[in-house]
Amino acid sequence: MSKFPDFEIGDKWILSHRGEKNPVDPFKPNNYFIEKERTVSGTVGDVSTIILTNSECPFRCLMCDLWKNTTDKPVPEGAISEQIEYALSHLPVTKHLKLYNSGSFFDNRAITKNDYKKIASLVDNFETVIVESHPAFINKNTLLFRNLIKPKLQVAIGLETVHPEVLQKLNKKMKLADFERSVRFLSSNGIFSRAFVLLRPPFLSESEGVSWAKKSIFYAFSTGVTSCTVIPVRSGNGALDALAANNYFEKPDIRSLEEVIEYGIELNEGLVFSDLWDIDSFSSCNKCLEKRKERLLQMNLDQIIYPEILCSCTGNPPSGW
Ligand code: SF4
Ligand SMILES: [Zn+2]
Repeated sequence: MSKFPDFEIGDKWILSHRGEKNPVDPFKPNNYFIEKERTVSGTVGDVSTIILTNSECPFRCLMCDLWKNTTDKPVPEGAISEQIEYALSHLPVTKHLKLYNSGSFFDNRAITKNDYKKIASLVDNFETVIVESHPAFINKNTLLFRNLIKPKLQVAIGLETVHPEVLQKLNKKMKLADFERSVRFLSSNGIFSRAFVLLRPPFLSESEGVSWAKKSIFYAFSTGVTSCTVIPVRSGNGALDALAANNYFEKPDIRSLEEVIEYGIELNEGLVFSDLWDIDSFSSCNKCLEKRKERLLQMNLDQIIYPEILCSCTGNPPSGW
């Protein structure tokens, strides 16, 4: 079998494999919670994270499942600030805030410029605000928002992978040059950026997945990002399940995530985080899962490589097993 399928993977094919969306309320956030994170200044702090309910992203990336909790039409003006207000009133006070909107914060169809002022007033007391955006929307709107807010702005961008053919097949409609241009634009305007890097996107074996994730981290730091978050790719969005059924995709193993994070920390070019959401699904060994999770969490916070977990699943059980 060829590494790549012979049919075209575009919007039409991806959309045809989607299931139903979940019902959402445009005036209530999808989710909100506190997570601990190491900051650029080297301290560990609580981050208020708000997953906003927003309209569906205009891109249809092959690996994306964020569309499941989005609206078909733009949310009404004022809805986003109402969601932020609601979440903040239910969260303890923190210094850092993530506003993730399942798309691009600077896409005016998602969040209109008219909303910026109210949002800015709500985030006034934070030290950092982190939003996400596709490079296509990183432009003067970004500067407009930055000028309105007191906290330091950070923008997260999905680099996904530097594998040229896989990046193209992901249907993100982004070239590496677009990513690089955006990071440089942000840096030259005093805005931090972070990259999302995929661990084992479709069409790659486990070892290729590890190798390309490492190359992607190296590249991201070379462009000037201050941090990288490594996301193990999971199925469940329809398209990836169809690819998995035909052996074009398999989810990575938690041990590969550990290897990539070790590499990233060792590089010492910036912060390297593992995305631990749904991490249990990337392990088939109950004996070491909890220890590996704890190790990844501590490495996220301390940016130190902790001793490897010994287990029979890797052929090196600790003595006494
Ligand atoms: S740009 Fe981001 S939110 Fe939009 S489809 Fe791609 S991965 Fe999903
Ligand atoms: Zn094990």
